[in-house]
Amino acid sequence: MSNTTANIMEAIMPTYNRFPIRLSKGKGTSVWDENGEHYLDFTSGIATCNLGHVNEYVKQKVESQLSELWHCSNLYEIPTQEQLAEKLVEHTFGDQVFFCNSGAEANEAAIKLARSYAQTVKQSDAHEIVTFTSSFHGRTMATLSATGQEKIQNGFAPLVPGFRHLPYNDFAALEDVVSDKTCAVLLELVQGEGGVIPADKEWVKALEEICKDQNILFMIDEVQTGIGRTGSLFAYEVYGLKPDVISVAKGLGNGIPIGAIIATKEAAKGFRPGAHGSTFGGNPIATTAGLATLTFIEERSIFEQVQKKSEYLLTQLKQVQESGTAIKAVRGLGLLIGVELNGNAIDTVVALQEKQILTLIAGPNVLRILPPLTVTTEEIDQFIEGLKSVI
Ligand SMILES: *Cc1c(COP(=O)(O)O)cnc(C)c1O
Repeated sequence: MSNTTANIMEAIMPTYNRFPIRLSKGKGTSVWDENGEHYLDFTSGIATCNLGHVNEYVKQKVESQLSELWHCSNLYEIPTQEQLAEKLVEHTFGDQVFFCNSGAEANEAAIKLARSYAQTVKQSDAHEIVTFTSSFHGRTMATLSATGQEKIQNGFAPLVPGFRHLPYNDFAALEDVVSDKTCAVLLELVQGEGGVIPADKEWVKALEEICKDQNILFMIDEVQTGIGRTGSLFAYEVYGLKPDVISVAKGLGNGIPIGAIIATKEAAKGFRPGAHGSTFGGNPIATTAGLATLTFIEERSIFEQVQKKSEYLLTQLKQVQESGTAIKAVRGLGLLIGVELNGNAIDTVVALQEKQILTLIAGPNVLRILPPLTVTTEEIDQFIEGLKSVI
């Protein structure tokens, strides 16, 4: 290791187990490292660059905004923020949007909105939010407390109180959803970090019905499933649900940091002036990226492509599964796909890196595949060939 590298490594807190790959360029599904070595990126920067790296349309819009105004804070009206909010409202169940900068912040906003809706609108002391085991909602104190994984919580006690974790996809547990303290339910429709586990359709419908019956906010964490990843703009459409609140981030700016919650007019009553805020939230650069991302999606038949590519990729993966013993199960929705292995997923990730293919894990034995929605059939074939050669 050169001195320079060692110094850089020492200057960064050791919160990540990083692979020794130094990426410096990207285009579509391709990325290149500092030595010009090419990789096929089937992580999309963890489901952020859904329209491919350095998407030309988003780049042009952000570039022209860079010449105009970068930041002015929410002291003033921000036209690009208004336009993005209008577009999100036009394309969703929602009526109002709050902007922030990340997935964790979006879930923080959802948590605050749920409590505030109960306490200031319903005049109730209900504050408890039901979440699920093996969920992932972020790394801030409230969102890691909401997360249903001990490994994320260890060492950070005391946790934020008011979260109750129930088993995911468990019909019997539905009886325990409501207590006199419950104000909301928050869940992912495909648990991403937790193992690529799609929600059972009947189960989630029953959960939604309980929320509606009991006047509890039904909140969906769409941070990973959103922005076309599952073959619709949001996964709640695939499931035919009507949430009160969704949280959005990862793909919204195609790699430019932005987060948001979208809520019904009723749920949004939980926030009044001064109730919540963010200095950077919805800034001109980030909302320009969001607006360009959604416009790009609108102008092309991205969702049909996602469905077709998903079917193609799943069929190929199932063939690989049947041809050997390495793969235990293949599952997912759209282009959020998990391959449950009989061995350690990290070994496969590393072996694929040697074949110039980047993938992720989702728990100890699940390989997580998140290609850009713009991935080509040829690139899928290259990925499958690479996978066959390493398992
Ligand atoms: C990534 C993720 C988050 C956290 O997003 P950050 O931008 O890393 O804070 C929250 N929920 C889900 C479902 C995620 O996949």
